[in-house]
Amino acid sequence: MQRRIGVMGGTFDPIHNGHLVAASEVADRFELDEVLFVPTGEPWQKTERRVSPAEDRYLMTVVATASNPRFQVSRVDIDRGGPTYTADTLADLHAAMPDAQLFFITGADALSQILSWRKVDELFTYAHFVGVTRPGYELGDDHLPEGAVTLVEVPAMAISSTDCRERVAQGRPVWYLVPDGVVQYISKRHLYRDEKP
Ligand code: ATP
Ligand code: MG
Repeated sequence: MQRRIGVMGGTFDPIHNGHLVAASEVADRFELDEVLFVPTGEPWQKTERRVSPAEDRYLMTVVATASNPRFQVSRVDIDRGGPTYTADTLADLHAAMPDAQLFFITGADALSQILSWRKVDELFTYAHFVGVTRPGYELGDDHLPEGAVTLVEVPAMAISSTDCRERVAQGRPVWYLVPDGVVQYISKRHLYRDEKP
């Protein structure tokens, strides 16, 4: 039997329960054997915001997924270095697991950008795309190629990493928005304290 592998790419700065619920729900609906969380590499240039070191984002993702036997974390994007393009992520994963069937999981906000990605056709040859609902974003299939994307409704978690970072900067709690181990990791590593709102 072909293994069915979900791929959830993200900055995960920090990983939160919205990511985990989306992955869990898609794993159930698509009978996935495994979901691979793939933290992005560090951007070359300074963007509008400083992204936390890849190693911190990787470790938070490991901590958050450790208790689920079907969740794994991949270093492909971190080890490649530089900004992450989904085409590279999927090409690398396909090369490492040529017999697996890949399902790329993406929230409504990211999905709406798919069509603006370069080499869209190539993306669809590597993976089936699963677009999940996200509070505050419209999940429409208006311009998507037929059959390449499935839209899935997941429990609404109005959580974003941006909000988590702002909360930490303001000394407000992130308990229950992110896994307990991630709360403790953020505190131990003093992450997000200087985040500008
Ligand atoms: P930031 O605010 O820094 O952009 P984020 O919360 O959007 O962080 P990302 O790491 O950018 O998290 O997202 C990774 C993937 O998870 C994207 O496909 C995104 O759409 C999806 N996602 C993030 N939060 C949710 C959520 N609450 N519900 C469903 N999908 C989500
Ligand atoms: Mg985002």
